[in-house]
Amino acid sequence: MTRPPAAYLGTHITFATMHGKEHLAREAFRHILGATVTAPPDLDTDQFGTFAGDIPRILTPRDAARAKARLGMQIANTPYGLASEGSFSARFGPQVEQMEILLFIDDDLGLELIEGTLTTSPLPGGSTIATPLRASEFARALGFPAQGVILQSTQDGHITAHKNITHLDELQRTAEALLANGSTVTVLPDYRAHRSPSRADTIRTLCNHMAKRLATECPQCRTPGFGKVDVEHGLPCSHCGEATQVIAADIHGCGICPHRARIARTETGADPTWCDYCNP
Ligand SMILES: [Zn+2]
Ligand SMILES: [Zn+2]
Repeated sequence: MTRPPAAYLGTHITFATMHGKEHLAREAFRHILGATVTAPPDLDTDQFGTFAGDIPRILTPRDAARAKARLGMQIANTPYGLASEGSFSARFGPQVEQMEILLFIDDDLGLELIEGTLTTSPLPGGSTIATPLRASEFARALGFPAQGVILQSTQDGHITAHKNITHLDELQRTAEALLANGSTVTVLPDYRAHRSPSRADTIRTLCNHMAKRLATECPQCRTPGFGKVDVEHGLPCSHCGEATQVIAADIHGCGICPHRARIARTETGADPTWCDYCNP
C-alpha cells in the first residue's frame, strides 16, 4: 500500500452525526491522513429514520448515508463528508445480524466510497415484557447502563420510543407507567453509537479501514481511495473441483477510473458442504 502525496492532509471532514461518531473517526483520520474530523452543529439525522421505529426508515442504507453526509457537508460548508448507517435484523432466530456501512464523499474529486461490514451483533433483539421487574432484568442482561436501552410502547398501532433512560429505577418506573395504561412494552437495545459500545467499536473499525483506503491510491490514475468494491464467488470445491458460491477473490477498484485488481483469498478450496454437486 502506498500513501498518496498528502491527499487529505490539513483537510476538514464533516461526519454527519448527532451521536458523537466524529470521535470514532478522529484518531485514524488524524494519524493516517492528517485530516481533522468534526461533526456539524445542529444536525438532525433522526429525520432519516430511527432504530426505535418512531420515525420509519424509507431510504436504503446507502441512500440514507449519502443524504446524511450531504446534509452535513452543506451545514459545514466542506466538500468532504462522512456518514454511517447501521441496520439490525433478527433473521436467524435469536441472532441479530448487524450491517454497518460508512460512506465517504469527496466532491472535489467526485468520489463516493463505501466501507461495510456484516456481523452478528453481540446484543440480542428486543424483548416484550409483562412486568417492570422483567424490564430491568432484560436491560441488565444487555449491559445496561453502559449499553443503553429504549422502551418502545405500542398503543392502538402507535409506536412511542422512550430514550435516554440512564438508571434502573427510572427504567422500572417508566415501564410500570406504560404497562398500567395498557401499552405493549418492548425493551430494545439502544443502537445509537453513543449508547452502544459494541456498535461504536464497529464504526471505529470502519473508520480505520476508510482512512487506510483513502491513503491508498489507484495504481492507474493515482486517485485516493483504491479498495474493495466487489467480491468474486466461485471458489472450487476441494473434493470435486466444481465452482461453488464461496468467495474466491476480492475485487479492488478505483472510485473514478475503471481500473480493477483481483486479489485471491487465501483459501484454495471450498468445503464440499457448499458444493451443489457433492452436497446438493
Ligand atoms: Zn464438490
Ligand atoms: Zn483510477
